[in-house]
Amino acid sequence: MTADVYGRLGVRRIVNAKGLATRLSGGLMRPEVAAAMAAAAQHCVDIAELQGRASALIAGWTGAEAGLVTSGAAAGLLLGTAACVTGLDPSKMNRLPDTTGMRDQVVVVRSQRNMYDHAVRMAGVALVEVGLPDRYAGAGVRDAEAWEIEAALSERTAAVLWVAGPQARPPLQQVIEVAHRMRIPVLVDAAAQLPPAQNLRRFIAAGADLVAFSGGKAIGGPQASGILCGRQPLIMAAALQQLDMDVELAEWQPPPGLIDRRLLKGLPQHGIGRPCKVGKEQIVGLLTALELFLAEDPAAREAAWQALLAEILAGLPAKPWLTAEIRPRGAVPGLRLTIAPVGAALDADQLATALAEGEPSIRVDRSQAADGRLWLDPQALAPGDPALIVARLQAILAS
Ligand SMILES: *Cc1c(COP(=O)(O)O)cnc(C)c1O
Repeated sequence: MTADVYGRLGVRRIVNAKGLATRLSGGLMRPEVAAAMAAAAQHCVDIAELQGRASALIAGWTGAEAGLVTSGAAAGLLLGTAACVTGLDPSKMNRLPDTTGMRDQVVVVRSQRNMYDHAVRMAGVALVEVGLPDRYAGAGVRDAEAWEIEAALSERTAAVLWVAGPQARPPLQQVIEVAHRMRIPVLVDAAAQLPPAQNLRRFIAAGADLVAFSGGKAIGGPQASGILCGRQPLIMAAALQQLDMDVELAEWQPPPGLIDRRLLKGLPQHGIGRPCKVGKEQIVGLLTALELFLAEDPAAREAAWQALLAEILAGLPAKPWLTAEIRPRGAVPGLRLTIAPVGAALDADQLATALAEGEPSIRVDRSQAADGRLWLDPQALAPGDPALIVARLQAILAS
C-alpha cells in the first residue's frame, strides 16, 4: 500500500543529482532512521522530557552545554536569535517580535548576508551590516575586519551572526573575541557545514555561543529537522520559545538539564518559535540519524559517493565537445560535465533542461551552466539512479 506513495498521489519521483536541496526534498533517509520514526509514532511521550534527553545527547556529540532539536537550521536561527534577545525573561518572550526597549540588533558582515537571515530578522531584530566586500566586487582584496564588527556593537546588540564557510571573514575566533569582550553572544549558521563530522564540535570549541545545523542535509535526518546547540541558558530560552506552553508552571516538570524552573519568574505563553514545533518522530529520527552519521566511516562514505559517480562516468557516451571528470567540491565529490563553447550539439542549459524534462526527471546542479558546466552530486542518489542517468544521457546525446 505504501510502496508507491508518490504514485498514489500522482506526484512524479525525480532522480536527484542536484544534492540536498530543500526544493528537491533533500536526500534519502536511511531505513534505520525511517524505522525509528515509525516506531516513535506508535507511543506518546512528554515532549519536554524527549527534548531533555535530546539535549544531553546533542551536548555529548557537539561539546556544547545543551542542545535542542529544531525544525531546521533556519528555525534554529530564529530560536537562537530570540534567545539572545530575551534571555530568560518571560515577559520579553511574550512580546516578541516586538523588541521595543530590548536589544534589537544583530550585527552581521555584509558579505555574509543571505536568504536565510530572514529567520534572524523574524525575531524582531534589525540586521546591522558591517564591512565592504571588496574581494567579491572585484575592486580589491579586503572584506570586513574584526575592528569594524567591534565598532558596530552597542547596548542594542543582541548577537553577532556568523555564517560558517571556507570563505567567511573575519575568522570566527576574532569575531568571538570582540563580541565576548562586550558579553555579546555569537550565533553561528553552520547549516551546511557537515561533513566533516568534526565540524559538529568545531564552532562550539572555538567559543561560539549558539550553533545551528540542518538535520535534513548531510546528517540524513528528517528533511524538516535540525539542531541548535550552545550555552545552557540560551538553549533554555530557545526551548521555552519553541515548546508548547499550555501548562501551569506549578504542575510542569521539565527536565532540569534543559529547563531549570528555578530560574523562571513565570512561564511564558506559546513563543515565537511555536510555529516551528517538532514532533516526537522528528526528534527521534534526527537523533537516530545523527548517531549513524557519527558512526559512519568517512572513507566508506566517500567510497560510496565515488562509486555512484564512477558508474555514471563510465557510461557516458564519448563526444568531442563533452568532458567529464570527478572532482572534489568541498567535502563531497561531484561529477563535472563541461560542454565546449563551440561545436557542441547543445549547451549546458539545454542539456540540464532535457534531463529535467525527461522521464524520469533528472535534476542536476546547473548553477554554473552559463560557464558550460553541470555538476552531478551523489548525496541524494539511490543505487539504481546512475543507470537511469546514463540511459537518459545516452538518449539525449544520441538525438
Ligand atoms: C540550508 C541552509 C539553511 C537552512 O537550513 P534548513 O535546515 O533547511 O532550515 C540555513 N543556512 C544555510 C547557510 C544553509 O545552507
